[in-house]
Amino acid sequence: MQKNCIYLDNNATTKVDPEVVEAMLPYLTDYYGNPSSMHTFGGQLGKGVKTAREQLAALLGADESEIVYTSCGTEGDNAAIRAALLAHPDRRHIITTQVEHPAVLNVCKQLETQGYSVTYLSVNHQGQLDLDELEASLTGNTALVTIMYANNETGTIFPIEQIGLRVKEYGAIFHVDAVQAVGKLSLNMKTSTIDMLTLSGHKIHAPKGIGALYVRRGVRFRPLLIGGHQERGRRAGTENVPGIIALGKAAELELLHLEEATKRERRLRDRLEQTLLATIPDCVVNGDSTQRLPNTTNIGFKYIEGEAILLSLNKYGICASSGSACTSGSLEPSHVLRAMGLPYTTLHGSIRFSLCRYTTEAEIDQVIAVMPGIVERLRALSPFKNDDAGWLQEQEQALAAHH
Ligand SMILES: *Cc1c(COP(=O)(O)O)cnc(C)c1O
Repeated sequence: MQKNCIYLDNNATTKVDPEVVEAMLPYLTDYYGNPSSMHTFGGQLGKGVKTAREQLAALLGADESEIVYTSCGTEGDNAAIRAALLAHPDRRHIITTQVEHPAVLNVCKQLETQGYSVTYLSVNHQGQLDLDELEASLTGNTALVTIMYANNETGTIFPIEQIGLRVKEYGAIFHVDAVQAVGKLSLNMKTSTIDMLTLSGHKIHAPKGIGALYVRRGVRFRPLLIGGHQERGRRAGTENVPGIIALGKAAELELLHLEEATKRERRLRDRLEQTLLATIPDCVVNGDSTQRLPNTTNIGFKYIEGEAILLSLNKYGICASSGSACTSGSLEPSHVLRAMGLPYTTLHGSIRFSLCRYTTEAEIDQVIAVMPGIVERLRALSPFKNDDAGWLQEQEQALAAHH
């Protein structure tokens, strides 16, 4: 990546914090032992790993014994879902939402072929859930409710604790994919209804290849990976020590910066969003106007293609995203925006800007300066003509028929 690029794709991945690099470096060079070894060389690692576990537990308001390290958010989601089903072998029903990350959605789809029934809760035009629909879906046969804390594409935050209270009434396990919430919202597992919570290092300025699953004490857990007794038998495999150290440091920094960084990001995000809406005709914010992550804005620019906007932004060294990284590359519109029932014209022209604590005022100014011209140029070339109502209607119908 260009060194001086304006990086506004932090919901896809983040830059590793230099302090995190510094903390993990000795564990890639001098301290390369295996923490399970009996000799002092292996034993030296114990202290660093213990500190890192304390740092991560502090960010979540959890106990150290409730942390299970994983390789990524995807593994955490998979492990939690499998563990919940094994804990309730007599129950065959799962509740999730239509807007989950593929790491949850595709596991649920596979489970449908293995005798489970899955309810995919719908969302409204703001991407928000209907708690009555959840209530009506819960039964004594529900083993697991797995719902994300905040959406990676729109930043919409779900009322997790209100959901959790309802889930508890039915004795189901409550798993939350909090990959986008950790470090952006204040979390406290001590007062939470969440049984299991997934997080990922590379979304909070740690490297790729490390994540964690919070498992509430007392919740029955069966490991996904079977082998040695690492992680108290909950995740076999020699520990990713440099990754664990890095995640600890990253968690410490997130906690340290949480309040001031989110305030700053919210101010910059709001300025970006409000200025673009005021200077560019025919654009709308996708997502909940109030219950939204402070760093995320997803804006639909009608009548043009998101991919074309991204290519133009790229020429100015600005990195943003259309849809999720997992679906981009295909021309299929995002499953999240589709579930929100957005019109065809908005669906295809949506761009997500996601900020982080390194985002500067000058970078936001630059985006504000170039966007109106980009949109105007693309619209002038666009076959999606504002006034071509017949053509649009055809596309909308084709899309509706497809689903
Ligand atoms: C990124 C992401 C994941 C997957 O995490 P990886 O560490 O990339 O596997 C899962 N859920 C959400 C909401 C995400 O944003």
